[in-house]
Amino acid sequence: MKLLEDMILEKGKVIDDNILKVNSFINHQVDSKLMKEIGLEFSNYFKNRGITRVFTIESSGIAPAVMTSYELDVPLVILKKQISSTLDDDIYQTKIKSFTKNITYNLTISKDYINSNDRILIIDDFLANGEASKGAIKIIENAGATVVGIGIVIEKSFQNGRNYLDNLGYDVYSLARIKSLKNGKIEFLD
Ligand code: 5GP
Repeated sequence: MKLLEDMILEKGKVIDDNILKVNSFINHQVDSKLMKEIGLEFSNYFKNRGITRVFTIESSGIAPAVMTSYELDVPLVILKKQISSTLDDDIYQTKIKSFTKNITYNLTISKDYINSNDRILIIDDFLANGEASKGAIKIIENAGATVVGIGIVIEKSFQNGRNYLDNLGYDVYSLARIKSLKNGKIEFLD
């Protein structure tokens, strides 16, 4: 997506060879017009597939996910990151490791917001090693629901997540695919 790539080049900050900061338009301050375009792009790609809910992981996936759910005209469900695990019959929970914070979270959802007939689109801001997507997939499939696809705003293609999800056969659609962040330079895949 050209608009997104241009913004990444103009405003993104390379922290090191593995981390890109996009705080001025995605993660801290949010560019709502960009989010609207992102929502349109994801909904055009994933439309006509019987999607019943959009899922994201709190908190930085919420902005692109809410615009996508608006365009697809289905609810958005936010998977919560809880520090402690809970023994509760009314929730599904699974552990994920945070890429940026080196913390393990318990990804949590109330059973009220998922059922076995659901066809779910997962949206997230970044794809690195795929931990967040793996956790979301596990929760969805444990509930007997179907993962229709995974929409990623920025994929770091040099990390493991993309290959892992491709090998399992999931349809991953990334709007910007970064080949390298080496030496402070952002390079996209062709
Ligand atoms: P994964 O779960 O795929 O290993 O990592 C994805 C999650 O980690 C995303 O939800 C995002 O919040 C965070 N993340 C991973 N890499 C980056 C990065 O380079 N920059 C930012 N801002 N967040 C990242």
